[in-house]
Amino acid sequence: MENIVIIGSGPAGLSAGVYASRAMLNPLIIEGISSGGQLMLTSEVENYPGIDNPILGPKLIEQFRNHALKFGSRLMNVNVEKLEKTDSKIILICSDGSKIETKSVLITTGADAKWLGLESEQRLRGKGVSACATCDGFFFKDKRVAVVGGGDSAMEEALYLTKFASEVTIIHRRESFRASKIMQERVMNNSKIKVLFNTEVKEVLGTEKVEGLLLLNNGVESKLELEGLFIAIGHIPSTKFLENSGVKLDEKGYIITRESNLLFHNLDISFPNNYRYSTSLEGVFAAGDCVDFEFRQAVTAAGMAVGAVLEIEKFLINR
Ligand code: NAP
Repeated sequence: MENIVIIGSGPAGLSAGVYASRAMLNPLIIEGISSGGQLMLTSEVENYPGIDNPILGPKLIEQFRNHALKFGSRLMNVNVEKLEKTDSKIILICSDGSKIETKSVLITTGADAKWLGLESEQRLRGKGVSACATCDGFFFKDKRVAVVGGGDSAMEEALYLTKFASEVTIIHRRESFRASKIMQERVMNNSKIKVLFNTEVKEVLGTEKVEGLLLLNNGVESKLELEGLFIAIGHIPSTKFLENSGVKLDEKGYIITRESNLLFHNLDISFPNNYRYSTSLEGVFAAGDCVDFEFRQAVTAAGMAVGAVLEIEKFLINR
């Protein structure tokens, strides 16, 4: 029986691996078939503390991975398809048919940004198209950018981008935003932000880099010249394998931990202990973007996961 199985191999899972292996817990990290998480699709990262030269996302993941391996983490390249709990253990059923028994689990499966689904959007990702203003806003000093979406994330991204960009256009497909009133007000009162309602992006223009957008508004096409496009239409947490497992999820599929329930959900859920990162199922902990839809940074996900390992160490001693 394993002491701890970490599911996920982005910054959260691999940081957890470093701490759990140094704590002599002999962790098994289930990487997932497409391992590495969102950083595998990121070009330059220049905001990970301690890495002061820009580094490519996949290279940073390789360094995280080597760090976890160096202290003895074991990696397994399969997907977890199901999690079951008995009185004495947790059983993970994997895509290769294997069953893994463990005393504890840390879920760090992350979330994927939703995209519009345009060929030009995917071709120009990292060349002006991004899904993270905190990560990439700095590259758009005095440039014109647009944000797609009408939720809190779109408002937050647009407001953040006004620090750098000369002009920010929010493009939303309906006639009103779904974001909270206070965020809408902040956007409407910001002179750098322009809003286009009832408007869809038909195509991202440019060959080597973003040069503009082809828009559709009430059946009429128009072009908007700009240098950057930020997609903020939501994220999908990678938690489908937890359906019917007993781990409580919110309506969008984010895992509810004791801490995230206090911060965001306020639901009447009973937790098996007082650990911050415990889920509703005893022995199952969760951290990173599959829990936290607010910060979504490599460093915050890694920090949360390390906190969870420190709690799991205590949980295993008490068990
Ligand atoms: P969200 O609330 O689900 O909003 C997604 C937005 O994207 C909606 O306006 C939606 O349009 C639009 N959209 C979805 N698919 C689209 C498509 N294919 N094409 C064009 N537009 C599309 O997602 P979110 O803004 O990421 O927020 C997620 C959760 O985090 C929310 O609960 C939010 O309140 C919370 N959050 C809070 C804060 C904060 O409080 N500071 C910050 C960020 C996020 P429709 O409106 O037409 O459906």
